[in-house]
Amino acid sequence: MAQAEPLSTNPLAHYPELQLFIAGEWVSKGDRKSQEVLNPATGEVLGELPHATQADLDRALAAAEKGFRIWRDKLPEERSAVLRKAASLMRERGEQISTAATLESGKPIMQSRMELKMSSDVLEWYAEEGRRAYGRVLTQRQPGSRMYVVKEPVGPVAAFAPWNFPQGNPARKMGASLAAGCSCVFKPAEETPAAALLMAKCMQDAGLPDGVLSVVFGVPHVISTYLLSSPIIRKMSFTGSVPVGKALMKLAADNMIRTTMELGGHAPVLVFEDADVEKTLDMAVAAKFRNAGQVCVSPTRFFVHESIHAAFVAGFTERVEKITIGNGLDENTQMGPLIHARRRDAISALVDDAVAKGATLNTGGSAIDGPGNFYKPTLLSDVPLNTRIMNEEPFGPVAMINSFTDFEEVMKEANRLPFGLAAYAFTENSRRVNQLGEQLEAGMIGINSFGISVPESPFGGIKESGHGSEEGIEGLDACMVTKFISEV
Ligand code: NAD
Repeated sequence: MAQAEPLSTNPLAHYPELQLFIAGEWVSKGDRKSQEVLNPATGEVLGELPHATQADLDRALAAAEKGFRIWRDKLPEERSAVLRKAASLMRERGEQISTAATLESGKPIMQSRMELKMSSDVLEWYAEEGRRAYGRVLTQRQPGSRMYVVKEPVGPVAAFAPWNFPQGNPARKMGASLAAGCSCVFKPAEETPAAALLMAKCMQDAGLPDGVLSVVFGVPHVISTYLLSSPIIRKMSFTGSVPVGKALMKLAADNMIRTTMELGGHAPVLVFEDADVEKTLDMAVAAKFRNAGQVCVSPTRFFVHESIHAAFVAGFTERVEKITIGNGLDENTQMGPLIHARRRDAISALVDDAVAKGATLNTGGSAIDGPGNFYKPTLLSDVPLNTRIMNEEPFGPVAMINSFTDFEEVMKEANRLPFGLAAYAFTENSRRVNQLGEQLEAGMIGINSFGISVPESPFGGIKESGHGSEEGIEGLDACMVTKFISEV
């Protein structure tokens, strides 16, 4: 890895060689198939990413089987020490890792730095929680008997992560499996490989035994199909879209592989007449356009009480038009490009469909000319329910604001879709807060806040948004099996 110049002078010089990491070895492209990794802000080629061959995958699987036995037998405090050291190396190398994440994902560097901090916190939290994977002792059924429950690591994990959080997604996948005592074959997104590889290097340098973690890339469905058909894999963790999640679950079923599925969302935001409008608007615009809206818990469907709807739309529009769009490496950039041209075109199609069906376009509504996959931050209001965007996850820089009159009506609309990941509500009425907590169909609910993810809280959805959680004690538990032992 080049360290010739300071990061700020020539960030590209610090973008690492893209390799596979298998059984403790860094594997270069050689004569493997490969793909270009592009900077979504400029279109320039950042590197050439090797695709794992079947032989590479077999080596990764064999290493995971062997590595599991080694890692499982380490004391929890030994595993904890490795993870804590990896977290501290991540912080030391933070500027290189976050710069790589911005180069390959396009997100503003400030957001990458915050993600780096959160990701190292996640590893550290898992390091601690792994030491608390207690079982329990049951009361006796007869004198002299003993009955107890123990928790054990489930076995080798296959993990698949998307590109929207190049550091956060790997931290969750690696943190949960390694803290539980599992080995892991990890496929990060091909769009954002470098941040994940730099994090794997932190693991290796922290003393993770060879083979416990492998990182592979390739054609996503080819890799996942191969790994999930192996009897070595005992658990799958996937973050991505609902259709891909369903396909992977079907594959996992054949080997009865346990699953944690973090799938898409279409988060409703209910703004009641007693909300603090200015404060809500500041928070809403920042949350909506974080990572250009490419966030599974991004607020998307705003329902604002009719008495404040017009003021809310006006305030939202004014704030959106002040967003600074540009290359994420520029410290002033507030919103970068979309990850690839496919995503930009998908957003265009959703917005065009909404406008054609009668939605009001308040601002934005088109791609930005020039290099990079930029799309203007966009606001639609009074959006008919039969538009695609009110039914399909937008995953981009678009917000929709409709109005409502009463609680039952808005609750019905909030819960109408098959998604159930995040939901938000803004109100000062405590009785209503209780009702919202009970009635909103979502795995995570933010009241007067968009902050719904910290390392110690379970992150996950219900309905078609998936099942299981990452982070929190639930995230660790998902990588463990329960064993009951009865002794007379
Ligand atoms: P996509 O479905 O092609 O890819 C999304 C992610 O899933 C990528 O990282 C990809 O590598 C991975 N993937 C796809 N097929 C896979 C397979 N068979 N096995 C393993 N991994 C596979 O879509 P895209 O255009 O890149 O992203 C847009 C959609 O993806 C969005 O609409 C959103 O629903 C979903 N997405 C969700 C999240 C999330 O955090 N839940 C993150 C990123 C993307």
